[in-house]
Amino acid sequence: MTIWSAGINRRTSTLAGLFTAALATVCGARPAADVDDARLLAADREPQNWMINGRTYEEGHFSPLTQINDHNVTRLGLAWYLDVGSRIGTEATPLVVDGVLYTTSVWNIVHAIDARTGRELWRYDPHVDRTWIRHMCCGPANKGAALWKGKVYAGTIDGRLLALDAASGNLVWSTQTTDPAQPYSVIGAPRVFHDKVIIGVGGGEMGVRGYVTAYDAATGKQVWRFYTVPGNPANGFESPTMEMAARTWTGQWWQAGGGGTTWDGLTYDPKLNLVYVGTGNGSPWSRELRSPGGGDNLFLCSIIALNADSGAYRWHYQAIPAESWDYDCVAQMTLAELRIGGRARQVLMQAGKNGFFYVLDRSNGKLISASAFVPVSWASRIDLRTGRPVETAAQPYGVDNTRLLSPGVFGGHAWHAMSYSPLTRLVYIPAQEDWFRYSRTPHYEHTPMAWNLGLNPQARDPPGVPDPPPRKGFLLAWNPATNSEAWRIDLHGPWNGSVLTTAGNLLLQGAADGRFVAYSADKGQRLWDMPIHTGAVAAPIAYSVDGEEYIAVGAGWAGSLPIVGGGMSAAHDTPTRILAFKLGGNVTLPTPVGRAAPSLPASTASPETIERGRRLYAANCRLCHGGAVISGGMIPDLRYMSPQTHAEFGKIVLYGARAAQGMAPFADLLSETDADAIHAYIIEQARPIAAPGAGH
Ligand code: CA
Repeated sequence: MTIWSAGINRRTSTLAGLFTAALATVCGARPAADVDDARLLAADREPQNWMINGRTYEEGHFSPLTQINDHNVTRLGLAWYLDVGSRIGTEATPLVVDGVLYTTSVWNIVHAIDARTGRELWRYDPHVDRTWIRHMCCGPANKGAALWKGKVYAGTIDGRLLALDAASGNLVWSTQTTDPAQPYSVIGAPRVFHDKVIIGVGGGEMGVRGYVTAYDAATGKQVWRFYTVPGNPANGFESPTMEMAARTWTGQWWQAGGGGTTWDGLTYDPKLNLVYVGTGNGSPWSRELRSPGGGDNLFLCSIIALNADSGAYRWHYQAIPAESWDYDCVAQMTLAELRIGGRARQVLMQAGKNGFFYVLDRSNGKLISASAFVPVSWASRIDLRTGRPVETAAQPYGVDNTRLLSPGVFGGHAWHAMSYSPLTRLVYIPAQEDWFRYSRTPHYEHTPMAWNLGLNPQARDPPGVPDPPPRKGFLLAWNPATNSEAWRIDLHGPWNGSVLTTAGNLLLQGAADGRFVAYSADKGQRLWDMPIHTGAVAAPIAYSVDGEEYIAVGAGWAGSLPIVGGGMSAAHDTPTRILAFKLGGNVTLPTPVGRAAPSLPASTASPETIERGRRLYAANCRLCHGGAVISGGMIPDLRYMSPQTHAEFGKIVLYGARAAQGMAPFADLLSETDADAIHAYIIEQARPIAAPGAGH
């Protein structure tokens, strides 16, 4: 369950017309988002702009700007900031074209901002069904927008793809990209090329069938769709490719959808006219439950190359056949030309959640190299001849076979943007060490619209299985040509931010300890930092307006680990903001206000009731509100509930009194007695921080 205290300012786009004139001034003579094939293909000739998620179609997250550099970065300061109106975090990479910054934020609200002053030109609220977060895993964020011929494109968690007028923020078209009767979500950033906009889907943890769709950018009509896993053979196959994939599955996989979702990584390759699609884990996670007779389960955890015009299959590389550990292979895929073994190779690079860094020949999908960049215990190596991992045990995990493995479910590297600098020829990876105990449930039954992992939540402390080591975070400089580590910077903890490199020899990252930091890109020397009071996980960008360079980032800790992992960030109560820095910037952020100790209502619950509440909380609430009722900052920490929230607890939990803020009703799963027990457990967990004398 989730109680969102978003309080977003719902300024409607009817006001947008008032801002159109201001926008035209900002844009100069150019119409808003005047972006087409010619400009995007030559994005490197416009270092002042950031027009694609990774700045160019190579998705390298590198800026050629040099005004802010390793010699003067100590003079970097805040130029402006914009509160988005919520404390739930953001994962979006901003875009900048001709002086206007476009981005998405909490609840998929789209913003247009004067990139020089931070003045908001318009915002569009898609009014997503906020209770939909009960049917998805990781919070109401997406990875950003796309621009094309005067329009801004963005997805919504409830499965829509929107096209907005870039000048006014008015809706031009909206397409439902998913079946609303299934637990799909859209959390990625769209990509645009040749008058087509492509978007993927999430939902692998709930149980869906993955696909990616291309729409006509002008009208929103579907051009092509590619399913990543086969459906029920009795219904016929969409293509010979699906018929081929179905031969690698057994049992009745289609009942739980199969998985293979496409929730983040999409890369367009103009040289080869291909779209590379990364695919996620299977539904459910365990291969024994999903495909009991074995098989590779194509195309789970794969990189698939599709013809950009038709969506037709060209090649695939399956990183993990029969994937079983939530090792989504959807992370950013960066294109580059590397000199390997004395010759130039056109490569695709991915730092996998599974702990291996992959370098592929992108003309044919052949694996060139793969090396572990964090401790990896599920596989000993990747066999370069077959491209397959050499797993460390015949049975990955089972009902009576709990295994402690690295990486765990948060990955050696998750979705956070990495950066490739063509100057240092290094890739910079926000990496982490994360271990997890995997155990399969003895009684699996698919539950529609709910979590369907197939894990055994009771097997938390199995005898003979060691405790997971503490999580660690570091920023890794990696040489992709030799597929080996160059150097690393140890960080305070895991789940640090996406990274940016610039031609000014800078490497920039928001850290989980609430600071925004600049290092030298060649040596990793720490040059500058500034407290921003939250972990910025989204990707920073660099742009320039009127000859002045800025660095911008969406700041607000977000994603799966902050939701379930508890209070690991320095920040706990900071508004989510868009920040922009420049040399000599002197704007200051408000000092964070500490929270008052909560006043607890009297509780006479028995230890048995509190224990029952603990178990119910773990089963129904913890995936959003955090283990032990300590949230990671972006979601209300229930220990600090107000007297009013305490008074209305049952109505909120069971009947949707705060559905508008995202707290879905749970009366279908919980009784009033259950809600009382959960309430008693939360009060008990809050006692150590409560005001003296409260709750007794
Ligand atoms: Ca997953």
